[in-house]
Amino acid sequence: MPAGIYPRTKEWKKKVYENLKRNKKISESKKESKNPNWKGDKAKYRAIHAWIKNHYGKANKCEECNEWKNKFVWANISGKYLRLREDYKMMCYSCHMNMDFQKIHKERDLKIKEMKEFKMKIKDIAKYFGVTRHTITNRLRKLNIIEYQYDRLQEE
Ligand SMILES: [Zn+2]
Repeated sequence: MPAGIYPRTKEWKKKVYENLKRNKKISESKKESKNPNWKGDKAKYRAIHAWIKNHYGKANKCEECNEWKNKFVWANISGKYLRLREDYKMMCYSCHMNMDFQKIHKERDLKIKEMKEFKMKIKDIAKYFGVTRHTITNRLRKLNIIEYQYDRLQEE
């Protein structure tokens, strides 16, 4: 900013000084970990798992498959880690993994849908995900976005 335009009052100087101090603090705290949210997220994750265990005990069954197994975990459903029993389920490891896979697939489907709605070509969507065009058209069919008899040549 050019000098002279902004009156350099005492107050203005104070503001500049405070801004500098704040920015320095921010950059220093960022240095502590490469990802500024990493520490906070991990602490939050730990705290919430302690909370669910304290309130509802150790996970001792699978509310998903009810099969007899010997190791169970509390799984978060919404991804928001709410302090609500309904946001968690006791699960065996295989159901927990399954849920995570389903989440990933769901996210991918949403993205594919969005890309198609933005009129991206199927071959470009396929390239983005590193899969064949066939995989993408299959997903789009399952999502009812394209008809079964979809002719891929129509977009060339
Ligand atoms: Zn299970």
